[in-house]
Amino acid sequence: MHVAVVSVGDEILAGDTTNTNAAWLGRRLAERGVSVERVTVVPDRVADIARVVNEHRAEYDAVIVTGGLGPTHDDLTMEGVAAAVGREVEPHPEALEWLLEEGGYERDDLATGTADLPRGARPLHNEEGVAPGAVIEGIYVLPGVPDEMKAMFETVAEEFEGEPRHVVTLHTPEPESALIDHLVDVQDRFSVTVGSYPGDGVRLKLTGTDESEVEAAADWLRERVTIE
Ligand code: ATP
Ligand code: MG
Repeated sequence: MHVAVVSVGDEILAGDTTNTNAAWLGRRLAERGVSVERVTVVPDRVADIARVVNEHRAEYDAVIVTGGLGPTHDDLTMEGVAAAVGREVEPHPEALEWLLEEGGYERDDLATGTADLPRGARPLHNEEGVAPGAVIEGIYVLPGVPDEMKAMFETVAEEFEGEPRHVVTLHTPEPESALIDHLVDVQDRFSVTVGSYPGDGVRLKLTGTDESEVEAAADWLRERVTIE
């Protein structure tokens, strides 16, 4: 399963907020064997949200959109997603009912538009906050607040499934330039992909679907590269 993540928010583009939501989703989906193939950050603008969501849903099995929920003026995600699938945004009776009955809110407490979702969407209840999320045509719309996003993702996590992958991480003090031939070789010999991440030394991340292949590739490297 291949997924795109769309992070909505001017504040992310301006560098005021670090996109920890995309990082968390990348890790959490990898655990489930699902690859995140794209992360796109878009401003709080309906046309931009609609265009990017539409492009990504044509290309990936699912699109996860975070941020910009709720009824305030800069919360435009539902409108953008609705435009991407050619639908109107309208009050969702089930989302409203949940807020009144389970969420503990009075109708007068809820700002107009709080439970507005694209027509025909499946609502996702917000256990940690107010604004509901939604699923429509493979597009999962989640809140921006990290705790709300994580809790809501867990309610749909089982809808994201792929082939489990095995990972071995090695660390070497050798410079990356000394590793090039070995890294080409190991990928030729074994069914693994190798990521090479220089920093303090080099971190090598071996990933594959067959555990014994990944272990054999790691052993092969251990014999040729100084590992600490
Ligand atoms: P609410 O449900 O409370 O209305 P929201 O979905 O509208 O939330 P935003 O208004 O987009 O969320 O963002 C709220 C806050 O969540 C931001 O000020 C920021 O602190 C945090 N946030 C938003 N997007 C991200 C992100 N991609 N990574 C980390 N934090 C984020
Ligand atoms: Mg908001």
